[in-house]
Amino acid sequence: MISDVLNSNELHKIDPVFGQLSFDNHEQIVFCNDKDTGLKAIIGIHNTVLGPALGGTRMWQYNNEWEALNDVLRLSRGMTFKAAITGLNLGGGKAVIIGNAKTQKTPELMRKFGEFVNSLSGKYITAEDVGMTTEDMDTVREVTPYVTGISQSKGGAGNPSPVTAYGTFMGMKAAAKYKFGTDILEGKHVCVQGIGNVGEALVEHLTNEGALVTISDINEDRLKEVSDKYNASIYRGNDIYSEEMDIYAPCALGATINDETIYKLKAQVIAGAANNQLAEEHKHGTILRERNIVYAPDFLINAGGIINVYAELENYDRKEIMRKTENIYNTTLEIFDYADKNNITTQAAAFNIANERIEARKKANS
Ligand code: NAD
Repeated sequence: MISDVLNSNELHKIDPVFGQLSFDNHEQIVFCNDKDTGLKAIIGIHNTVLGPALGGTRMWQYNNEWEALNDVLRLSRGMTFKAAITGLNLGGGKAVIIGNAKTQKTPELMRKFGEFVNSLSGKYITAEDVGMTTEDMDTVREVTPYVTGISQSKGGAGNPSPVTAYGTFMGMKAAAKYKFGTDILEGKHVCVQGIGNVGEALVEHLTNEGALVTISDINEDRLKEVSDKYNASIYRGNDIYSEEMDIYAPCALGATINDETIYKLKAQVIAGAANNQLAEEHKHGTILRERNIVYAPDFLINAGGIINVYAELENYDRKEIMRKTENIYNTTLEIFDYADKNNITTQAAAFNIANERIEARKKANS
């Protein structure tokens, strides 16, 4: 058998979906293709035990389709646990559109994508992620009701990013409380990597509290704009991980904590909004624990966005959105406590608690 001659790291090259290393019993993967608009998208539905699979759509210029598939598998899985740990009745899903959001995104492409979402009859509900805007979701809304994150003027909860940033800030404060004994971030040196929608709003919270903020981004215009606005220092080197800092806040893309970076990190706390920050959850989570670096699980502290869009489905108001998001502070502290009591990583602690909820519902359903 061919699999006998390959190790598991090579299997995914032959078995493109079920053999992917990131495949974790996903319920359904949908490949969407439309020649006329140039749409190439993948929708990943990881788990729908708690409810319909909700998760944003990311548009990104992936190097190849394997990368896109891997991303959607990892992201949709993360959404399952994010909803579960946050106490929402939602499953986990996510979509990726392969392409450059600046040059290839058109209303026609977004509408075609919306038609694919619609064909799933509500099993998957979309929202925005990297490369998407509230206006894009409004376009998708023209062809399907299964979309959240639409404009307030159209009855939606608006851009989720400021709420995501607030939740991340709450999670960061909880991590600081655990590590430094105080949740006041004044005087703490925080590096925010990626100052897009969420990163900028996080920088605002941090500067309001008197933290010393350094920002990094691949977009020079953004760097200048955000630095001018908040008087933040710009990181100009090419190895931010080796920088002296108290808190590292990854707010760009995932997997920045990996074999290459993990031993360089000087930060004592990692708390950011990016999804899937640990390249390998168990391995890198364990190394962080051994190195006494406190890691606030990404899928827990970046849940403000999903809390915000969930309001569109459950009809709760802004006050309730902010109350639920603020509670991320308490949940983060509970996770740290659970991790210590069980001598496991904070990531594993968060997964365990989320899994307990999913398993209990599964049992109740059956
Ligand atoms: P965004 O596209 O607005 O911003 C991302 C920023 O990261 C951009 O400014 C980009 O130039 C920068 N970037 C990309 N690669 C980089 C690199 N190598 N180094 C430095 N900067 C880099 O996206 P966003 O909405 O702010 O989301 C940021 C992260 O948070 C993503 O991982 C996203 O999945 C996650 N997230 C976002 C939300 C939300 O509500 N928007 C919710 C949960 C999680």
